Amino acid sequence: MAFELPPLPYGYDDLAPTIGGDTMRVHHDKHHAGYTRNLNAAIEKHPEFKGLSAEDLLRNLASVPGDIRTAVQNNGGGYVNHALFWEVMSPHGGGTPDGALAAAIDAAFGNFDDFAAQFSRAAMTRFGSGWAWLALDAFGKLVVYSTANQESPYLTNFIPLLGLDVWEHAYYLNYQNRRGDYVAAFWNVVNWDAVAAKWVAATR
Ligand code: MN
Repeated sequence: MAFELPPLPYGYDDLAPTIGGDTMRVHHDKHHAGYTRNLNAAIEKHPEFKGLSAEDLLRNLASVPGDIRTAVQNNGGGYVNHALFWEVMSPHGGGTPDGALAAAIDAAFGNFDDFAAQFSRAAMTRFGSGWAWLALDAFGKLVVYSTANQESPYLTNFIPLLGLDVWEHAYYLNYQNRRGDYVAAFWNVVNWDAVAAKWVAATR
């Protein structure tokens, strides 16, 4: 069973003006499709790993054969990171979380605004390509941090809840070099229901 490119849960143009359709088409149909194809090509060389989820491959990267380990880290990471990214955005997003997730964010970061500032700072200070994350760390604690390139939180047994792609391919057509404007606009499309569902699943 090969890894399949998950469809966008909304139309290419539906996140505009935060992220325009031209970016979404290339990002999903070319970049995410490429990570998916390259992950499949890597696993094809070691069929004994077929059937494992991409998350499990990343959690157990040390047991992945050396000749495909880097390919699995980069393309498996790209595969799961982007799948999450599409899920945690919505044309009807924005606002703030409520319920138990809101309480957990307040407990971990003081209040929502301080959390959002910390997340935006993580996105802004990631030099070069990478991701900003809200995640549960290996001890189940809510953390904000960033990773380089396509490094996945699963590599360190973290569970990602909210991710923001800060590779230039994610924003350059809309914002050129203005990453800060992209990060600020991202909050308008965050699907907090999806983030809350991930938090519930991860803390169950
Ligand atoms: Mn990307």
